[in-house]
Amino acid sequence: MAFSELGLPKELLIAIEKEGYERPYPIQMETIPAIINGKDLLGIAKTGSGKTASFVLPIISTIRKRKTLKNRHINVLVIVPTRELAIQIETVFKLFSRSLPEKLKTLAVYGGVSINPQMIALQNVNILIATPGRLIELVESKAVHLDQVETLVLDEADKLLNLGFKKEMDFIIRCLPVKRQNLLFSATLNEGVENISQLILNDPCVIKIGVEENDIDAIVQKAYTVEDSKKGPLLRYLIKESEWKQVLIFTSSIYKADNVADKLRKNGIEATAIHSKKSQLARNTALEKFKSGDLKILVATDLLSRGIDILELPVVINYELPRSPKDYVHRIGRTGRADKSGEAISLISPDEEHHFKIIQKKMKKQVDIFSSIDLV
Ligand code: AMP
Repeated sequence: MAFSELGLPKELLIAIEKEGYERPYPIQMETIPAIINGKDLLGIAKTGSGKTASFVLPIISTIRKRKTLKNRHINVLVIVPTRELAIQIETVFKLFSRSLPEKLKTLAVYGGVSINPQMIALQNVNILIATPGRLIELVESKAVHLDQVETLVLDEADKLLNLGFKKEMDFIIRCLPVKRQNLLFSATLNEGVENISQLILNDPCVIKIGVEENDIDAIVQKAYTVEDSKKGPLLRYLIKESEWKQVLIFTSSIYKADNVADKLRKNGIEATAIHSKKSQLARNTALEKFKSGDLKILVATDLLSRGIDILELPVVINYELPRSPKDYVHRIGRTGRADKSGEAISLISPDEEHHFKIIQKKMKKQVDIFSSIDLV
């Protein structure tokens, strides 16, 4: 199937071609016509499947036919769990909407930065991407009105619930007009997600893209057993020996992320840590530099384990294992994206061996485990 068969306007088809997208991904084949036809949608898919374009393209091709709204009354609202995801989705909306003759203004708003510039920037916005807390602050200060929203997107609904945003989402939904199109995306379909989908979706088109196993298949996983005290030297050995273009390292705490990045720098390896205690500016800069390839090594907490798209990231290293097997899958899923292969390496201390067995059992995959004794 070609993009030209999906009912998208010709200006967008040109922009899609320029972006190098040759063919629609499975999720896009299904969602694009359904959204253009005004259907509600439940998409069970994770980032990496082409999910963002699957809603951005049909939304901007239908919004252009609608009337212009009053200032500060937005047409499209996208709610996301993290600031990084908000910025990423804003980029995709901007990328594609600038090809259209109509002026569509997109803005991402999120907490952790000053609210005033966001209030000013909200003038004449059509498409707003927001994290729940900051959105509520903006609604309460009347900087934005939700009573004319025509399309609502809840992205990563399972993560929104995991982060405890249920009350905020209920509040936001109460501010919306009853008649609207609802698109709900989630990596997993758990009870919480089912509840929200029943609450907000009207006769939805249900699309399940079984990317999780396929994604993992594209990733070569291995692990090294190593004493805790030897993890640093092993990490440096692996970085020096391998010719990776970039490396994303996960730790389980903020303290450890800083500590690992510091030690790498002290040993002459340029690295930056990213976690929730860093300022939003520092987080944005680090992520931008990493995405553009200017930063080679990023050390992150699970803040980055979901939703973040880093083009052609060759390797993810688990310096420490995450508590949940699901987070393990999300972490390693930062590599092997968009049809590319990738590598995931875990450093397993004696204390973590039992937990690693559980992770392998849960993901139904045996990982090759090597001893690090001869290496460090
Ligand atoms: P997402 O799941 O939205 O994070 O997208 C993952 C990656 O796939 C992004 O880098 C997109 O630019 C890319 N992508 C999305 N759709 C296509 C497509 N049809 N062909 C090639 N790349 C795509």
